[in-house]
Amino acid sequence: MKNPYLPLLATVQNVKTETYDTTTFTLLLDDEEERREFSHRPGQFMEVSVFGTGEAPFCISSSSHGRDTLDITVRKIGRVTSALHSLGEGDKVGIRGPLGNWFPFEEVEGKHMLFVVGGLGLAPLRPQIQDAYRERDRFASIKVLYGARTPQDLVYGDELEEWQQADGMECLLTVDAATDGWTGNVGVVGTLLEKVALDVPETIAFVCGPPIMIRFVVRDLVGLGFGEDAIVTSLERHMRCGIGKCNHCMIGDKYVCLDGPVFTYRQMKAMMEFEE
Ligand SMILES: Cc1cc2nc3c(=O)[nH]c(=O)nc-3n(C[C@H](O)[C@H](O)[C@H](O)COP(=O)(O)OP(=O)(O)OC[C@H]3O[C@@H](n4cnc5c(N)ncnc54)[C@H](O)[C@@H]3O)c2cc1C
Repeated sequence: MKNPYLPLLATVQNVKTETYDTTTFTLLLDDEEERREFSHRPGQFMEVSVFGTGEAPFCISSSSHGRDTLDITVRKIGRVTSALHSLGEGDKVGIRGPLGNWFPFEEVEGKHMLFVVGGLGLAPLRPQIQDAYRERDRFASIKVLYGARTPQDLVYGDELEEWQQADGMECLLTVDAATDGWTGNVGVVGTLLEKVALDVPETIAFVCGPPIMIRFVVRDLVGLGFGEDAIVTSLERHMRCGIGKCNHCMIGDKYVCLDGPVFTYRQMKAMMEFEE
């Protein structure tokens, strides 16, 4: 069995600036056998280490389909994320993973897929949207409602344009505050729910974003009649080891790193009540 504490060595293949504080790094595992064995699903994360600085968890923001590289999309907020932002092509990082559970996919076959996303919450959902779109015949419909604070905070700009023009997918954008040149919707992401036709009993909602956004969107969805098992989210609780040893990410009796990070609203509610 592999040592879960031992990072695999990877090389930065590409660095893409998404916004003023957020960058996507494309990583390639150095060892060919490790590359073949590394199999991940949308929603999973990995611990990424910058040598001499430390490690931090990041969701894998790319689909595994047809590629052997791994994307992480990183907002610069502190020590490890700043060190990551200083890396360039050819630099080395360590990877432990893939870790955690994943978003339901086969389980929701035939259903409408509704993605309600805020800011960097698009990072964990991007591979799920990519996979759903590639296999769109398996789902009744795919709708992406994406909001950010300002137009400058929208990540994956090129892909958003593609999604907006794609056949078989609806993609609506909004910003909390418009800046010069923005002609689209203004308002929090929940306001986009009024702009799409929803077959609520047949829809699974995937909700990711800042905690306050999740709280309001879940309230809106429950108000529209969504059941507690039809709302799925990913929690980004403070985490250290990623393998259920250090207790940093515990909520009630659950480890976000092992039992999650993907939870239904029903599970989340039970955990929060447990913690009170
Ligand atoms: C499962 C999971 C997936 C994640 N995916 C992503 C991702 O795709 N992209 C991304 O940019 N970030 C992601 N994060 C958050 C990321 O791990 C933190 O931003 C990172 O650990 C910060 O490390 P740092 O050393 O730069 O900051 P530090 O120097 O440790 O902290 C700087 C400040 O940020 C606060 N902080 C640190 N981590 C968190 C957190 N998780 N929640 C709230 N506040 C925090 C600290 O309290 C401190 O105030 C994820 C976290 C988890 C648990």
